[in-house]
Amino acid sequence: MEVVLERLEWFYRYLLMMEFTDLLDIAILSFLIYQLLSLVKRTSSGKLLKGVLFIILALMVSSWLHLNTLNFVLGKLVEWGVLALIILFQPEIRRILEQVGGSRFSFLSVFNKGQQTSDLENAIRVTASACADMSKSRTGALIVFERKILLDDVLRSGTRLDAIPSPELLKNIFFVKAPMHDGALIMREGRVLGAGCMLPLSRNVNLSRDLGMRHRAGIGMSENSDAVVVLVSEETGTISVAVGGMLKRHLAVDTLQLLLENELLPKEDAPKEKHKLNLRERLSRKKKDGEKDE
Ligand code: ATP
Ligand code: MG
Repeated sequence: MEVVLERLEWFYRYLLMMEFTDLLDIAILSFLIYQLLSLVKRTSSGKLLKGVLFIILALMVSSWLHLNTLNFVLGKLVEWGVLALIILFQPEIRRILEQVGGSRFSFLSVFNKGQQTSDLENAIRVTASACADMSKSRTGALIVFERKILLDDVLRSGTRLDAIPSPELLKNIFFVKAPMHDGALIMREGRVLGAGCMLPLSRNVNLSRDLGMRHRAGIGMSENSDAVVVLVSEETGTISVAVGGMLKRHLAVDTLQLLLENELLPKEDAPKEKHKLNLRERLSRKKKDGEKDE
């Protein structure tokens, strides 16, 4: 008990000694650690972080126990490891630095939220319109809306673009004779960021047998990330959406638009009656859409 009181007194005295600059120091450091951890989460590099922490811990232990050779080798590993990590994460680091200099960085992005929402609304409208046409013309399409988890790895497998979406652009990309029609289109913050991208296939063995590679890739992407994936079938013209490993099939165009708005727009910006739509209403809508399709 005495020890606890002593500690508390020490802590109280320490608090009294604190100056404004100390608080600023702690706040900035906490912010940087938070950004680093959220980057680890968004890039799903948790395993890598565990590995790095393990090596640092082993380095400290080997230093305490005077295991000189091990300490030397681990020290070299850390030196080269830092370089390797910078090379490995070069696109992500570049993106963060661009964000710090640009207007998309965390608290600054609050001021830019209106613009982001209107870009997203445009992307949703354009996607629904293009899907309506592609469904009629039986043009296969695979559109991935990135959310919190960054899809830089997937983007690297395709052709990098940075374009404002329009129905013409989307239809052009998926036009069967166009060079980029194979693979998926990636949307980030309402912009077309890449096309012709390879997606991971679903590992679900219980999927319906009539689902081919496009649908399995769409479902796989939604299993491996928080992305929302829109599909148009080349064979049947059916529009589907995959979220969290689940595929909603036979959607009408207005249901597709509603679903995308509910999934992608910030809740306070989603139109009220639309976002009130509960599961039962969605299912009955889905049933109607199914009937329309058949
Ligand atoms: P559809 O109903 O349009 O025929 P499907 O689910 O039956 O679709 P397939 O007929 O096998 O699928 O579609 C093949 C197309 O799916 C390929 O031409 C390619 O564009 C796309 N595709 C296949 N695998 C992947 C993948 N891993 N990542 C992205 N796109 C893929
Ligand atoms: Mg097929």
